[in-house]
This record gives sequence, structure tokens and C-alpha cells, in this order.
Amino acid sequence: MYCPECRLEFNPGIVECSDCHVALVEELPPDPALEDIELSTVFFTGDEAIAGLAESLLRGAGIVYISKGEGAHDLFGLSPIEIQVDSRRAEEARDLLAHLPQGNRVPSDGGAPET
Ligand SMILES: [Zn+2]
Repeated sequence: MYCPECRLEFNPGIVECSDCHVALVEELPPDPALEDIELSTVFFTGDEAIAGLAESLLRGAGIVYISKGEGAHDLFGLSPIEIQVDSRRAEEARDLLAHLPQGNRVPSDGGAPET
């Protein structure tokens, strides 16, 4: 069984993706949208909840994305999740996700030094 959203494979008997909360399907449909495009990483986080938010924002905007790293967190605790989109829509996606906290962002700019 496969999740049509994140395309993870699940054991038989499981009917819903634990990450996406959508019904699993027997076979993944071919995804031509992902075959011919150049992917750009637009988001990176160690927080699965933040990644889920980012994905729902992208879904809402109709931007095709893939996320890497999901599903690996059960053995090692937090693992970074990387979200990639069609590079033609990367700018749009970055704008969309700009207000979400990212794992690799260093809050060093814009802060006024204390006196
Ligand atoms: Zn899923």
C-alpha cells in the first residue's frame, strides 16, 4: 500500500498514511509531473509538524512538491526533512513558506545589537 501524497510504502493492512492522513492506494499512479522537471529545495526543517504545514501550504497553492526525509524519524528521532518543488515555481514556494521557521535558518540578520 502506498500513500498518494508522500508516496511512502506501507505494510498491507494499513489503510491511512500516518503523516498525511489520506487513504492509501494499492499502486502509485505514475507521476509524469515529477519526471521532467528540475527540482529546487525550498524548505528544510527538522520539525515534522512544520514540514506538514509547509506541505499543506504548497498543496493549497497547487505547487507540486516532494519531501525527502519523511518516515526516517522513527529510528533516530528528528531527521531533517527537505521539501523540493518544481524550480519554475521555487520563488513562489519560497514566498509562501517564508514565514515558517526553518531548521537551517540562523537568526543573525536584522537583529539590533543591544547596547
Ligand atoms: Zn503520506
